Amino acid sequence: MFDIQELIILLNNYCNLCCSYCCFKEDKSEQFIECSIKHLEKAITLFFECIKFNPKSQRVLCFNADGETLLSKKLLVNGIKFAAKLKKKFHGKNVILAIVTNGTLIDHYLASQFFRFGVSVTISIDGNAFTHDQHRVDKNNFPTHGKVINGIYHLKKFKVPFSVRAVITPETALHIPETYNFLKKLHPSRLVKLRPVRKKQYPLLPEKWVEVFTKNYTKCIKTLLLNGVDISEFPDDAYYFARFITQGIPRQRYCGAGYNMLWMTPLGFFTSCGLFSNTDKILGHIDMLSSAKDLCNLLEKPFASIFRSNSPQFNEPCMSCFWVDVCNGGCPALKILSQKTREPPLLCEYYSTLGTMMESFYNLINFRR
Ligand code: SF4
Ligand code: SF4
Repeated sequence: MFDIQELIILLNNYCNLCCSYCCFKEDKSEQFIECSIKHLEKAITLFFECIKFNPKSQRVLCFNADGETLLSKKLLVNGIKFAAKLKKKFHGKNVILAIVTNGTLIDHYLASQFFRFGVSVTISIDGNAFTHDQHRVDKNNFPTHGKVINGIYHLKKFKVPFSVRAVITPETALHIPETYNFLKKLHPSRLVKLRPVRKKQYPLLPEKWVEVFTKNYTKCIKTLLLNGVDISEFPDDAYYFARFITQGIPRQRYCGAGYNMLWMTPLGFFTSCGLFSNTDKILGHIDMLSSAKDLCNLLEKPFASIFRSNSPQFNEPCMSCFWVDVCNGGCPALKILSQKTREPPLLCEYYSTLGTMMESFYNLINFRR
């Protein structure tokens, strides 16, 4: 039987920003749709009841949105309060409570609530003001970097752990080293994430994008290697490759889609991955579930099994690739959306180039010793 170890609840469908690359823009209706408190509490309860299937497993309950999580301020605070109560009741010390936000609406009150209920925060910030404000603007086209930094200031005041994630675009790829340096200086509590921009409609990637992203990302990592920066300071993909090459530690699955993760939309529908929240690729509805087992059984549905059949262990050329244990074929949704099951995943060149570059660096070091 499957065990849901990660539940992402999308609180609403509306955003206060208008980022140029947002792939949910096309889905947005003018109507603000928010999850009902009844659906929210039921989903949280079923998730915590899953603890009984495997009490020692690490679990994540994450509040997110198809827009901006903090636009549902009251609902969010009720949700984290309720989740913190169940965490105690179900002895869920291995459950992490998290939220994802664009950071612009974090104030003193919200930061205090995150601290009080033990919530960690992931913030989308694309680097320094120059880089960030090229794409991440509000509905009136005004820059938003200052507001995000202000939000981070509140989190720091309450010592709320936060991580940062930047989207890299063809316009900002040249500045990857500056972006990385800026984000590191914010002192996030987890690895910095640098993600190449992509869409969920064709064309999924900008023209020649993999080549451009690979070149600039690997250049940044080469500098870190040459400067002797500790691998724990690297952006996430480079960290996993360095750890694999130097210590032989594989990266378990790229993400839990199809295996142990579910997303619930504001209207109470479940899907395997947030990119499919506004499609017909749904697995069921919260009103149809009456137990934790029902929640887990959603992963038996055909759209969840597509993620498993697209896993690298079943697909050439990944299954025979040297890097499969650390790369895992990358984001499975991108593979499904590209509908090219027999070809390498779209970002393959990036992963294999990064792995090869890092391996030659470490070999050279060992040879010199
Ligand atoms: S490097 Fe390419 S072929 Fe190898 S596992 Fe990654 S995506 Fe698959
Ligand atoms: S399949 Fe890709 S987009 Fe979906 S949750 Fe996993 S990593 Fe994210």
